[in-house]
Amino acid sequence: MRTIKRDIYRNIIKIIKKHSTIVIARHIGPDPDAIASQIALRDAIRLTYPEKKVYAVGAGVHKFKYLGNLDKPDYNELEDVLLIVLDVPNFKRVDGIEDLKYKHILKIDHHPAEDIIGTVDWTDEDKSSTCEMITDLLLDTKLEMDTRIAENLFIGIVFDSDRFLLQNTSLETFKTVYRLLDYSKIDFAPLYENLYNRSLNEEKFRAYLTNNIEISENGMGFINVKPETLEKFKLEITAVSNQVNNFSFIRELICWMFVTYDAKNEIFKVNIRSRGPVVNEIASRYNGGGHKYASGARVKDYEDIESLRKDLDEACEEYIKEQEK
Ligand code: AMP
Repeated sequence: MRTIKRDIYRNIIKIIKKHSTIVIARHIGPDPDAIASQIALRDAIRLTYPEKKVYAVGAGVHKFKYLGNLDKPDYNELEDVLLIVLDVPNFKRVDGIEDLKYKHILKIDHHPAEDIIGTVDWTDEDKSSTCEMITDLLLDTKLEMDTRIAENLFIGIVFDSDRFLLQNTSLETFKTVYRLLDYSKIDFAPLYENLYNRSLNEEKFRAYLTNNIEISENGMGFINVKPETLEKFKLEITAVSNQVNNFSFIRELICWMFVTYDAKNEIFKVNIRSRGPVVNEIASRYNGGGHKYASGARVKDYEDIESLRKDLDEACEEYIKEQEK
């Protein structure tokens, strides 16, 4: 193990040991990597330090209930709190800590750094997932792991790397997964059921997206999914995000954005993926961000949607020109 990593692990254990109460948070609109990393780390700390009070907070998602339950502590009763922030780089996207008073932050994340700087900070953009980082942490320190924890970590890694298909998958990812499976001996194949089980309507919706996506001559794909379309397919708004990675290997697409209107929050939700230009810098101009090739944005006016679409299209055009040089 390299010295830097050893130092980080030492500092992480030190700060966890120092606090009697720990609240673990992650981003709004959580995915399996966010929730699995949160629950796995909570359970590992509880297992290792039974005397500590440890809570995983934020809104629950029915679909991911199989990963475990979240907690709803009374923040007024908590003292000496360490806030652990997982899988999110910016305060505005952390879920459920508005009224929490905390002493220190431990941040563990694989997004490019933004405004959250932890007292102890482990940010590594090269990691496939936050679960990959938590797996390494558990395997290389005294933090304990049981079967359930190992299963959750495996699910988070598989989800965020899209079954090891995405560019964020590295040799390190495979090493970590090998070590996780070797150590825990979990039966991993049945775990895919929860992740990939879907209704026929969802498949029909995928066909709808394929049939209706508009593709520019620069390979920029665009679709605005209207609320009435989702109603027709009897699907929730999250169904759109669930589909965006399925367009990864379509030859005609270099970059694609899916738009949906979140009526509750009166905002357009955008999912962006690319296998050409870097898109997170573009997304950041539209109240968004994320990874180089997988980003999102929240946009108030439809005019900005058109403008974002144009910016992405131009980025694709430039990318093509670069490739032709
Ligand atoms: P999604 O398309 O929702 O799967 O998100 C892809 C990536 O972009 C994830 O890493 C998200 O955390 C990030 N992301 C999504 N929406 C936003 C946003 N409004 N601001 C910053 N990052 C975002």
